Amino acid sequence: MKQILVTGGAGFIGSHLCERLLKDGNNVICMDNYFTGCKQNIVHLLDNPYFELVRHDVTFPYYVEVDEIYNLACPASPVHYQFDPVSTVKTSVIGAINMLGLAKRTKAKILQASTSEVYGDPFIHPQVESYWGNVNPIGLRSCYDEGKRCAETLFMDYHRQHKVDVKIIRIFNTYGPRMRPDDGRVISNFIVQALKNEDITIYGDGRQTRSFQYVDDLIEGMVRMMASKDFTGPVNLGNPGEFTMIELAEMIIRLTDSKSKIVFMPLPSDDPRQRKPDISLAKEMMDGWEPSISLEEGLKYTIDYFKIFRNDYK
Ligand code: NAD
Ligand code: UDP
Ligand code: UDP
Repeated sequence: MKQILVTGGAGFIGSHLCERLLKDGNNVICMDNYFTGCKQNIVHLLDNPYFELVRHDVTFPYYVEVDEIYNLACPASPVHYQFDPVSTVKTSVIGAINMLGLAKRTKAKILQASTSEVYGDPFIHPQVESYWGNVNPIGLRSCYDEGKRCAETLFMDYHRQHKVDVKIIRIFNTYGPRMRPDDGRVISNFIVQALKNEDITIYGDGRQTRSFQYVDDLIEGMVRMMASKDFTGPVNLGNPGEFTMIELAEMIIRLTDSKSKIVFMPLPSDDPRQRKPDISLAKEMMDGWEPSISLEEGLKYTIDYFKIFRNDYK
């Protein structure tokens, strides 16, 4: 049995990953400081004898014996990562150093959950891994974008300098059950607003685009990336379907049979105009991996989750 550490394991993506790794027959240590994650996300795993939950902040050293590390600890929603931007940078950078130090000492493989935000407001469309990005280093999103860019630098330097077996994935907007209703990201906001028949808040003119990946497709990609041989990445993991925020709002109104109206609000600063992954590299290096769940199908599962499991938006 492999011993696997998941940092940020009580978060949205982390909880799905812990579930999958347990299903695959591994020992899982889930580390989280509950900044944005919560016990509710992993409470159903607590009876599993191969699951261990640790309250710990990744910015402090952590000693344990492991075979693999998935480093997810970091708030992901703009609302949350801008709440305490200094702490966001520390989590990305010092957290990466600690987890790389742990990987170096234990000779563990380590995977970094990086982001499409490293491309900033991109001039190349769709985004390929070889594109270096267009990121404002001093703006409101920089604590997240530059923190994640620096973490990628650290991963590649530990790989070159200390021969650590690293894997970097660049995750594009991912959604699904266990997103927080107050998360602030577009899909949870729109679904909660639609279910309450409240106004749907589109920021800007709504013509900016995003590509939305259902969480199960991402988890499959993460596990395949960890298993890949002689491949560090970075590799894009996302669904190439591209939608404007207006299209997204209309789809969610239709799927929830909502009476909500669309309203337009100011666009936050440095909000990227377009985002769409080129996933050729992932397909080539990860056994033909590609997303299989359409936006409409994934939204139905997510809407059901918000209807059935969450009462806090009522
Ligand atoms: P999330 O906020 O639900 O999960 C992040 C988890 O990290 C939370 O459980 C939080 O409590 C924990 N955490 C934060 N700071 C910590 C610290 N200092 N020490 C220990 N734990 C800490 O967000 P998510 O969507 O599940 O994102 C998981 C990872 O994936 C993040 O690294 C994020 O940057 C990356 N990512 C997510 C998306 C997306 O669309 N969801 C896109 C790109 C990248
Ligand atoms: N570290 C950790 N767990 C370990 C090994 C290291 O948290 O099992 C931390 C350690 O605190 C250090 C960081 O990882 O600050 C980087 O470790 P590295 O060995 O690269 O650097 P050094 O200890 O030489 O500064
Ligand atoms: N957005 C929106 N209304 C909302 C929340 C977000 O129109 O209630 C927009 C936001 O400005 C951005 C897009 O939706 O253009 C995606 O935002 P999100 O925060 O989900 O992800 P990110 O901007 O990090 O890709």
